[in-house]
Amino acid sequence: MRIILLGPPGSGKGTQGNLIEKKYGLPKISTGDLLRSEVREGTQLGKEAETRMNRGELVDDDIVVGMIKNRIYKPEYQRGYIMDGFPRNIVQAQRLEEIDPERREMAIEIYLSDQAVLDRLSARRTCPGCETIYNLKNKPPKKELICDACEKRLVLRDDDKPEVIKDRMRVYHEQTEILIDYYSRKKVYFKIDGDGIIETVFEKISSLLDRELARSQEVEITK
Ligand SMILES: [Zn+2]
Repeated sequence: MRIILLGPPGSGKGTQGNLIEKKYGLPKISTGDLLRSEVREGTQLGKEAETRMNRGELVDDDIVVGMIKNRIYKPEYQRGYIMDGFPRNIVQAQRLEEIDPERREMAIEIYLSDQAVLDRLSARRTCPGCETIYNLKNKPPKKELICDACEKRLVLRDDDKPEVIKDRMRVYHEQTEILIDYYSRKKVYFKIDGDGIIETVFEKISSLLDRELARSQEVEITK
């Protein structure tokens, strides 16, 4: 099974990916982490990526797909894996299918309305010292606007300001609607309501996965 996670900023996509990884034993591939670790390890592709980044260029698909390919051909990825942050467009989606064509696929969108995203992110405050993220609504610090760990005064990051959030949402919709349409046509698109606490959202994802994994085993047996 290849699980492709989609979700707007603030949807908790990364956290849900980690929970799926833990419960189902499917490793998560976050392209950001992948890129950083290949650069750090100084692999051939890592070096190419670093050269581009140092020139201020984007890392092209060939490099990223190459890194994903090296990763998913390892034995611990044989049962499947979770994709976070890739694909972002149809060409990338197709390249992912090309390097691992037999794999069953599920694209899961953790859906949040624009207003819910705005409410969540604009309530976010970050500690400039230890970078802990708080939320004034559902994860406030003990003392008002003061970090529990290092007592520094919390700040609103530029990324979490309403005008920037609106911009990030616009980019998200532009990219994601095309992918949702693509995966809907393939009949592998699933939508999960992301409005709720982490545990509630994860329960919904779990029951979806339990159902789909059971179904794919049935298919396996009848083959
Ligand atoms: Zn702190």
